[in-house]
Amino acid sequence: MAITAPPAARTVTLSIDGQELTVPEGTTIYDAAKGAGIDIPVLCHDERYDPVGVCRMCVVDVGARVYAAACVRPCEDGMEVKTATPEVEQRRGTLTQLLMADQPPTEEDPKETTTADNELLVLARRYGIEREDGLPLGGGRGIDLSNPVIAVNHDACILCDRCVRACDDIQGNDVIGRSGKGYATLIAFDLNDPMGESSCVTCGECVAACPTGALVNKPIHDVPIRPRTELDSVDTVCPYCGVGCALTFHVDRERNAIAYADGRDQPGSQRRLCVKGRYGWDYASSPQRLTTPLIRREDSYPKGPLSSDVKGDRKGRKKPGGLVDYDEVLPHFREASWEEALSLVADRLGAIHKDGGPAAMAGFGSAKCSNEEAYLFQKLIRAGFGTNNVDHCTRLCHASSVAALTRDVGSGAVSTTYGDIINANVAILAGTNTTANHPVASSFFKQARRRGTKLIVVDPRRERIADHADIYCQLKPGTDVAFYNGIMHELIANGWVDREFIAERVTGYGELAKLVKQYPPERAAQICGVDADTLREIARIWGTANAGVIYWGMGISQHTTGTDNARCLIAMCSITGNVGRHGTGLHPLRGQNNVQGASDAGLIPMTYPDYQMVDRQGTREKFEQAWSVSGLDPEPGLTVTEIIGSALQGGVRGMYMMGENPFLSDPNVNKVRKALSALDFLVVQDIFLTETAEFADVVLPATSYMEKEGTYTNTDRRVQIGRKVLEAPGEAREDWKIICDISTRIGFPMDYGSPREVFEEMAAIMPNYAGLSYDNLGPSGKLYPNSDPEHSDGSVLLFEERFNTEDGKAHLVPAEWMPAKELPNEEFPFILNTGRLLEHWHTGSMTRRSFALDAIQPEAFVYVNPDDAAAMGVADGDLVRVTSRRGSIELAARLSHRDTPGTCFIPFHFREAAANVLTIDEIDPIGKIPEFKFCAVRVEAAAVPAEPAA
Ligand code: SF4
Ligand code: SF4
Repeated sequence: MAITAPPAARTVTLSIDGQELTVPEGTTIYDAAKGAGIDIPVLCHDERYDPVGVCRMCVVDVGARVYAAACVRPCEDGMEVKTATPEVEQRRGTLTQLLMADQPPTEEDPKETTTADNELLVLARRYGIEREDGLPLGGGRGIDLSNPVIAVNHDACILCDRCVRACDDIQGNDVIGRSGKGYATLIAFDLNDPMGESSCVTCGECVAACPTGALVNKPIHDVPIRPRTELDSVDTVCPYCGVGCALTFHVDRERNAIAYADGRDQPGSQRRLCVKGRYGWDYASSPQRLTTPLIRREDSYPKGPLSSDVKGDRKGRKKPGGLVDYDEVLPHFREASWEEALSLVADRLGAIHKDGGPAAMAGFGSAKCSNEEAYLFQKLIRAGFGTNNVDHCTRLCHASSVAALTRDVGSGAVSTTYGDIINANVAILAGTNTTANHPVASSFFKQARRRGTKLIVVDPRRERIADHADIYCQLKPGTDVAFYNGIMHELIANGWVDREFIAERVTGYGELAKLVKQYPPERAAQICGVDADTLREIARIWGTANAGVIYWGMGISQHTTGTDNARCLIAMCSITGNVGRHGTGLHPLRGQNNVQGASDAGLIPMTYPDYQMVDRQGTREKFEQAWSVSGLDPEPGLTVTEIIGSALQGGVRGMYMMGENPFLSDPNVNKVRKALSALDFLVVQDIFLTETAEFADVVLPATSYMEKEGTYTNTDRRVQIGRKVLEAPGEAREDWKIICDISTRIGFPMDYGSPREVFEEMAAIMPNYAGLSYDNLGPSGKLYPNSDPEHSDGSVLLFEERFNTEDGKAHLVPAEWMPAKELPNEEFPFILNTGRLLEHWHTGSMTRRSFALDAIQPEAFVYVNPDDAAAMGVADGDLVRVTSRRGSIELAARLSHRDTPGTCFIPFHFREAAANVLTIDEIDPIGKIPEFKFCAVRVEAAAVPAEPAA
């Protein structure tokens, strides 16, 4: 069949205020005028929303009997538009006067005191409308202050519906609607609930959208927000998750504090933020910040945890300060000068190195730090101490995904962006609680589904994203391999595979086909608990789609079979040709803001920067030359869990810990605690006294994300510059400078003038970063690889022509389903799953010091199914004890239909009930990632202490 070219887009020609314009057919008058630099006032419209034309502020004269609303009226050939005749302007003035008539009186002009651009007041000024204090006429519809950081003043609402569209169409949260009739009509949260008690997730998109003072940010900590004109603006990037949303911080220089944040235009985030990015930054100004180096006092040895566990109250709720108790811990340290502290660090680490050799040394870097800091840290450990014992929290989140991708397709990076879902016919979201862990990415997933992409969600927990799915599969925990093998069985049996792609670009297909033949849907269903017909239906949808993409999270990776799980996803895409085109591909959603960049920069024991294997011929020599050293370690180093194991055995004796908190984040923390106590010397570099710092010999005060410059690489491979926003407190120093100081003192001099210089060195030896520079990254950053960073945003797609393997092909590795390592039994009948909450980050050191985030989620809890709770005689909020073979914690029960009977879920952020007391430290044999998603526990009602006598 002959392929015909698509018809050329038709255009129309018209004049607007005398300017002749030719625009594509369907363009609205508003957009055409805007493109020509003509500003038409509007209240109900924003270019990100579908126009509704309700406020009538944008009316223009098109020569017809009635004026036309420019935001909805399409341009027509020969049309003559006048946007600002005296009559049109008079009409707008009258409209503004009517709207102002029932605006509530305010003490001060909201434009100057809130974070919302009060566009109505701007119009009032333009049309000379005096505010009529004393009104509103029929007001009193109410003020809602139930949300900790957003105030709602219904009297100021003009029912333009911008907030409704922001919440529904942009964020996909579907919280806001309308209630009532006539003048009593209000915007309503859920079923007219107070905002703070509704399903609102406090993303603040509605605040950013509101053109009046109806939805505004409350000041954090009751410190009034200074007039906008007195604040500085700094464009930077969110410090929390791998989405890497672009934002602008508005800074109160007098207080050296952030007043509020706005989303910023960038292709990946498009001005959206979640609750952490918009409201979770005040930790940087916490009075608990470390401001001076600390040295452990002589009488504080032997080492051990210094802060007593903070038990919950009778209901399991934390007492104030569920973090490290500074009053208990600080007396064990004395303040020191930088000179003394750095000399001690260099002397002690140097002595251990001399005595025990490179194998006695190890370092944990941080995915919260910049690319430059990750690069320098691994360079110090490798070249300064001669060992590859350097790792970071990638080991705990996507190490198995990276292992599978690196081995099978030659690159651990994502092959397409999360925004590319819009081009997919079908998307599988596998083991990802994306609304909590990557909230802004999830808003693109929800938006794509509304525009026609079929969404298949596969997860043992019915997370919020499942509510948006076309098909939701609640598989049994730990059965992913059987599930995907069952689908691949059907794909192959029905010929729903891409034979040409397989022939040209894939190896191992025969072995895969042979293995999955043993997983007919009925057998797979028996293992995974999803019925056979659903498996067949998913295979049909996937196999007949033109473009399918898979996004996955830690539900796939955090298993002892994590690498096998990821390999199944790679095979699913490869045998159906779903790689290398728009709307297709493989995307492990990265957790930390810079876990992609830290891995790229070489903060992993098996690879130098840019995944150049340490044991591959020629690589070591290349880095020895680049770094002007000799004798780099020829063997891959130990991983996070292996380093802990080695410390317990007396192997690793000296450690440098930059921004990691393994005491809470690693599995089986009682073992971690013993390992940290056993170290001869531990230096911890952080912004707060963490639980891990309690074991330190020296604590070095570092800078937060806000107090330094550097680049960060998000889950899409977008490299962005984070700018300095605040001054560092006290004597706190930038991490990259501390690394250089230590390196120089141990005899491997590092002399850099700025992060920019470090980045230049990185780009010169990292092929994927070639060509990128501080000068060409621009305000939105750039994707790598990028052959023309001066002019291009970079490559959305990888593997268009070939995979990154030596022969250019994907090497499929079939996987047999294997059960989890620790199955439930009579004594421990529940399966424990662990993970994050939307409002908190990892070990809580930042988020629990954020007013908004702590106010919304202040306490540790375990989700249990209501049937299980009833069987235990436990009500919502009751204190329960959860026990595994490794330990026991007490915390509040929350009843949840998202968890199946026999399973429970504990967020791991809370030290007073640390989930990792319970988890098992079995690891995936290839990715070396721990099994955070599966271990056997017992849940039971905890004995409630008697009320004290009155
Ligand atoms: S804060 Fe976000 S979720 Fe809440 S109502 Fe506003 S837009 Fe919706
Ligand atoms: S989605 Fe991630 S990067 Fe974006 S605002 Fe939220 S935490 Fe920050």
